[in-house]
Amino acid sequence: MSRNNYLLENNKILVEKINSIKQDALKRKIRYDEEQLNHPISYWIKKDRLRDEIGKELTIILRSKGCSWALSDNGGCSMCGYYLDAVAGNVSTNQLINQFDKVYNDNINEINQDSYNYVLKIFNSGSFLDDNEISKEVRNYIYKKILNVEKIKEIVVESRLEYITLEKLEEIREFFDKKYFEIAIGLETVNDYIRNNYINKRVLFKDFKLALKKCKEYGIGVKVYLLLKPPFLNEQAAIDDCTNSIKTLINLGVNSISINPMNIQRGTLVEYLWFQNRYRPPWFYSLFKCLRKSLNQDNLKNIRILSDPSGASTKRGIHNCLKKECESSARDTLKKFVLSQNLNDLEKISLCECKKKYQLQKNFY
Ligand code: SF4
Ligand SMILES: [Zn+2]
Repeated sequence: MSRNNYLLENNKILVEKINSIKQDALKRKIRYDEEQLNHPISYWIKKDRLRDEIGKELTIILRSKGCSWALSDNGGCSMCGYYLDAVAGNVSTNQLINQFDKVYNDNINEINQDSYNYVLKIFNSGSFLDDNEISKEVRNYIYKKILNVEKIKEIVVESRLEYITLEKLEEIREFFDKKYFEIAIGLETVNDYIRNNYINKRVLFKDFKLALKKCKEYGIGVKVYLLLKPPFLNEQAAIDDCTNSIKTLINLGVNSISINPMNIQRGTLVEYLWFQNRYRPPWFYSLFKCLRKSLNQDNLKNIRILSDPSGASTKRGIHNCLKKECESSARDTLKKFVLSQNLNDLEKISLCECKKKYQLQKNFY
């Protein structure tokens, strides 16, 4: 067996465990009615870092049939509970278009009149470029609709590697010759062993590099999601992994990195480990350490570093000691850094006595 096949085949026990946890969670899954199928899962507008300025994001989470990887017998990723949001069965082209139109119609005036420029993020808890989740008709409808919205300067969609084909890249180029288009890829780490044996992603770094090359050839940007603290790593190992990933990706010339500190989602292997006290989400201290260790201000001229942690300052998300002052200082510091891309802003976190506990724990838990 070649080394790569070994990496992809060596996690049968993990897959079995993920599948059995999912079977239990799926019994409690709610079926959506017609009204819900015509509405997205959610959407929001808030401040965000654009490539060259502070702007705003409009993020839309479409309600689709869900990620092909999560729906397969291979179980999906060990931290991902999005399959519980997915629709059991198909979502029609019209329903997806209605979902998008609802957000578009409700917000287009505000966007047009806003003094800020926008990044539009269209997510579907899976792959926007997978025809089985989002058909070409829906994609093209959305592309046409936003093409001439002057205020929307950037578009971001998410996709697994296997759907980033030349055909899809050509389709994007056909529509967008002026707007910046970015494909976000859940690489999670540059380490193949961690990605495939602990996260169960079934993605190889060499394939990511090929996709990056293709995107570059088409003038399409690549954003990488990194997972801070995958399961089975202690805090220090997680810092080392994330730091190494950031440095490697900078050298490869990716356009953006979004660091996702683990948040414990329902119906996942990670939740199972957490219930058993075998996993703790990362500390904010670790995230700041990764950023300080891996970046210098010069890097930030060519790459944008993002992080907008879900569930931050709760037991299920990234947190320090959960004391109000400590958590709000950490969250504010992170937000400020992301908007400014200025490393000096990371130094503004206030001191808390929990740092001692963190330092004692970080090699063990
Ligand atoms: S993390 Fe992404 S690739 Fe993995 S199961 Fe979830 S949606 Fe699919
Ligand atoms: Zn604290």
